[in-house]
Amino acid sequence: MTATRWKPWGSPISEWAGRVNKHSFTNNRRVALVAGGAGFLGSHLCEYLIKRKWRVICIDNLITGSILNIKHLRNYPEFKFINKDITQPLNIPGKVGVIFNLASPASPKDYLALPLETLSAGAIGTRNLLDLALAKQAVFIHTSTSEVYGDPKEHPQKESYWGNVNPVGPRAVYDEAKRYSEALIMSYYHLYKIPVRIARIFNTYGPRMKIDDGRVVPNLIYQALTGGPLTIYGNGLQTRSFCYISDMISGLYKLIRFNDPFPVNLGNPREFTIIEFARLVKKLTRSSSPIKFYPTVPDDPQRRCPDITRAQTLLKWRPKVELEQGLLRTIRWFQEHISL
Ligand code: UDP
Repeated sequence: MTATRWKPWGSPISEWAGRVNKHSFTNNRRVALVAGGAGFLGSHLCEYLIKRKWRVICIDNLITGSILNIKHLRNYPEFKFINKDITQPLNIPGKVGVIFNLASPASPKDYLALPLETLSAGAIGTRNLLDLALAKQAVFIHTSTSEVYGDPKEHPQKESYWGNVNPVGPRAVYDEAKRYSEALIMSYYHLYKIPVRIARIFNTYGPRMKIDDGRVVPNLIYQALTGGPLTIYGNGLQTRSFCYISDMISGLYKLIRFNDPFPVNLGNPREFTIIEFARLVKKLTRSSSPIKFYPTVPDDPQRRCPDITRAQTLLKWRPKVELEQGLLRTIRWFQEHISL
């Protein structure tokens, strides 16, 4: 396909994108490729798609994902797993209607340990998937992150906020990879008229999070259940908001028919300080673990909370699962899996 001239921002999207209506995926185009499909989010998305009668091609190099997350799907004839790194050339035969890009290390612990892999996934991997979307005439849905706002100076964060990112700080490998991938996606949109969607995902939690991935949800649940001290970095007054996995997946699915290339925040707008969160975990696990304070993490965003007006008005989406309810389900899953 040849590149066209840049169009001004906000120009009507392409005819091709406009054809993504309720009839588009009822036939043999109801095939989704999920890059990063063996990860926490990806495995839930694969499951959701299979339940809705999609054929799913799950690609993952298992660098941070796990085959255990998709073990239960491998018996479905509609599900296919390919162990592959998206930064390598992709040759996927057959039709693909939608490409979801979730392939990247995502927890601070993982991306700090895998800086070059994280940068390559955002840059080379995203480009390979965009080329595939172009070849297949597929809708391209990218999972970006609230980290594009860095340590935000505006609160809550709207999509129009450009962020406050340290490009040479430790988190830069993730933040800048995701910012680069957003720029790359918008370039493909303007040059080639690909139907693209960008979801900026805020902290999400639920069953299948890696117990040792270092994030606050698995760390504190594990510590509370095993009697160790709950580790708080800094004074615990920094904030996050927590979206339960089923809410996040339903939002991502709705993006298929979103028909808008500009980023949309997906997350839960109920904001908690980390110390409040730690007390809630203690209460729900009935743990007597002490809370212990440790030095703050460099460039740790101090306040984070999504403005989800765009998702509410355009996608007709908002999270439904309250933190207490979602945490109880997550705690139960951890209880079952810690011993394993
Ligand atoms: N955090 C903490 N204790 C932990 C893990 C994380 O106090 O054991 C803090 C961390 O410093 C940050 C917040 O919890 O302020 C959320 O961290 P997480 O790693 O879950 O994700 P982030 O939102 O920073 O990507």
